[in-house]
Amino acid sequence: MIEVSSAVQLIREASRSLNTETVSLFTAVGRVLVQPVVADMDAPPFDKSMMDGFAVQSADAASGKTDLEVIDLVVAGQNCSTQARAGTAIQIMTGAAIPCGADAVVMLEETSTGNNPRVVSIHATKVRQGQNILRQGSLYRHGDQLIAAGHRISANDVGLLAEAGAGHLQVRRRPTLSVIATGNEICPHDQFPTEAQIRNSNGPLLLSLAQAQNAVPVDLGTATDDEPTLTQKIQRGLAADVLVLTGGVSAGMLDLVPKVLKSLGVQQIFHKVSLKPGKPVWFGLHDVDPHRCLIFGLPGNPVSTFVCFHLLVREALRVLCGEAAIGDESPEHGILTVAHEIRGDRPTYWPSRLSIIDGKALVEPLDWKGSADQRCLAAANCLAVFPMGNQTYAAGSLIDIRWLT
Ligand code: AMP
Ligand code: MG
Repeated sequence: MIEVSSAVQLIREASRSLNTETVSLFTAVGRVLVQPVVADMDAPPFDKSMMDGFAVQSADAASGKTDLEVIDLVVAGQNCSTQARAGTAIQIMTGAAIPCGADAVVMLEETSTGNNPRVVSIHATKVRQGQNILRQGSLYRHGDQLIAAGHRISANDVGLLAEAGAGHLQVRRRPTLSVIATGNEICPHDQFPTEAQIRNSNGPLLLSLAQAQNAVPVDLGTATDDEPTLTQKIQRGLAADVLVLTGGVSAGMLDLVPKVLKSLGVQQIFHKVSLKPGKPVWFGLHDVDPHRCLIFGLPGNPVSTFVCFHLLVREALRVLCGEAAIGDESPEHGILTVAHEIRGDRPTYWPSRLSIIDGKALVEPLDWKGSADQRCLAAANCLAVFPMGNQTYAAGSLIDIRWLT
């Protein structure tokens, strides 16, 4: 049995990043950047007005009270060739380029025009240099790195990418991820189970988790616990970049998954990891040039499957997509709201709820009834990580957490 950190290391070593492709900005959300995005111009590209008002020389209106001659009008999208001089003002719209010679904009609300539209009265309390002007390059400069390689693009990034003219982006191919749920007792989730059957929860769960990680899910359905069926399904699954099986990896008489995988030439890299839930997890590699498939055999209990996906399968997907590793970052913490007792010879990943109250991250371990308790999982937004050993953690203890995102 190995530690979670060693398992993660072995998974990273076995995973290779996928080929790249070019996608349009509109289909780039969820994909991982191969190259950094670098600014091809300053932002803003010119000194621009933040207000509707009058562009002036601040020295003229330093005291805030003066009348100025209106010599031109500039709207957004237009270049103004008129030069602002002492004693003059140029009417300007939000987003317009500041005319040469002007060094401040007085907002419309701080001005008035009488009968003569060629004269504006400034009645601001004070006008300072640069007022209401967004200077060229004040947001970023031509050549600045805007987004690093290895970043997974989110919808939040898209405005910046559009501003930077990144209409097409080089990203990694989406990994395919096949799912097989094994077990004689498993029936499809959209059927009513007969006696002694249960519905296939893990299949839909894993396919959805894969989709949330921007992999391409491939549903291979369920397989009974016999060698011919498993062999036939696994052969199909090996065509994917990642094959995830659930069930059949423990010590039972019908836990045939490791045996069938080996008979198909899959090289075992580890079996059993020191964690709770999820100890029997199996990992291996099928490498027949040029195709490499990473195979995970996850324990059948749904919470075990979930935790193993979260801690282990996701690491493989990250490497395949070329995403910068996050596993080495310092862990996040929460403060226990109630005392919590832990028993066991393995670290426990306990479904919990974390809330920020008065700036404090408070973590409440949920009433978790074990590895089959999916109702608890559905209510969780993080896993609280308790080290191995028998211990009661007092309310107020600082606990490592992993967000369930
Ligand atoms: P196994 O890992 O095959 O020994 O299964 C462990 C437990 O998980 C058993 O109680 C199974 O019935 C349950 N289980 C296995 N596969 C699934 C599945 N696809 N959906 C829901 N529960 C499952
Ligand atoms: Mg089973």
